[in-house]
Amino acid sequence: MTVDIHTHVFRPETDFGPALRADLARCRVDPAAWGDVAENHLVTTQSADIAVVFGLQASATGWNIPNDYVAAHVARAPDRLLFFAALDPAQPDCLGELERCHRDLGAVGVKLAPLYHNVHPRDPRCLEIYRYCIRHQLPVLFHVGTSFISGTYLEYSRPIHFDAIAVDFPDLRMVLAHLGHPWEGETIAVIRRHPHVYADLSALYYRPWQFYHSMRLLVEYRTEHKVLFGSDYPFTTTADSIRGVRQLNAVIGNSGLPPVPSEAIEGILARDALRLLGLPHPSSLPRRPS
Ligand SMILES: [Zn+2]
Repeated sequence: MTVDIHTHVFRPETDFGPALRADLARCRVDPAAWGDVAENHLVTTQSADIAVVFGLQASATGWNIPNDYVAAHVARAPDRLLFFAALDPAQPDCLGELERCHRDLGAVGVKLAPLYHNVHPRDPRCLEIYRYCIRHQLPVLFHVGTSFISGTYLEYSRPIHFDAIAVDFPDLRMVLAHLGHPWEGETIAVIRRHPHVYADLSALYYRPWQFYHSMRLLVEYRTEHKVLFGSDYPFTTTADSIRGVRQLNAVIGNSGLPPVPSEAIEGILARDALRLLGLPHPSSLPRRPS
């Protein structure tokens, strides 16, 4: 079974604010190139068995993807999609939104992105979210590492902060996205220490040297069992990510550098993220109107 633990849906024309549009333009990313994000999501995620889907709520950087929209999208393929609530700790009723998403919209996890919220992951407002998630057994997937966005503190995205959260909240199941790039070594140091802290390797394969190097580090620290597969659709696709991960040794050519063992690669692609994170199988959840 392959689980894509990291996919987004949104409508750039309505869900992106001016700050985000400016950042995308500066980095020469044209949202129109993604085509119909929702329709293409339904197609490419079929390359996995199950996909976790979320939006992003971050007023500081111009992201406003309604949780209702994402939940309705998930209801279009309820046998294979799982909904995570996107929260913005900077918003006054963040906890109310969490409760609403959990109770009324069927959220089975939470997505946070401290760099995008411009809120430190150990801010008291975040700690309330963690307490709720522990009480209700909801895992939290964090954006960790750098990003193209501007105007917020990169410091908030350092993997080391999640070490302190894991010490203070040992029962919280966490996923540190993107192996915390370019601080993959720091992420490995964190996930190795804590039984309930995982990483995903989404959006990494297209930087082939960095990805190869990170995967070798994982193997040398014997930590690959703490890594989950993810794509970061629509920034890439599920299908391209699976292909890219399988081809990661191509970068070493005949250099004599050691390959990443295929068991490590296939182990990540087949990892049962549902069991590790305590997530239900989508087909076991009550049906909701799309
Ligand atoms: Zn993402």
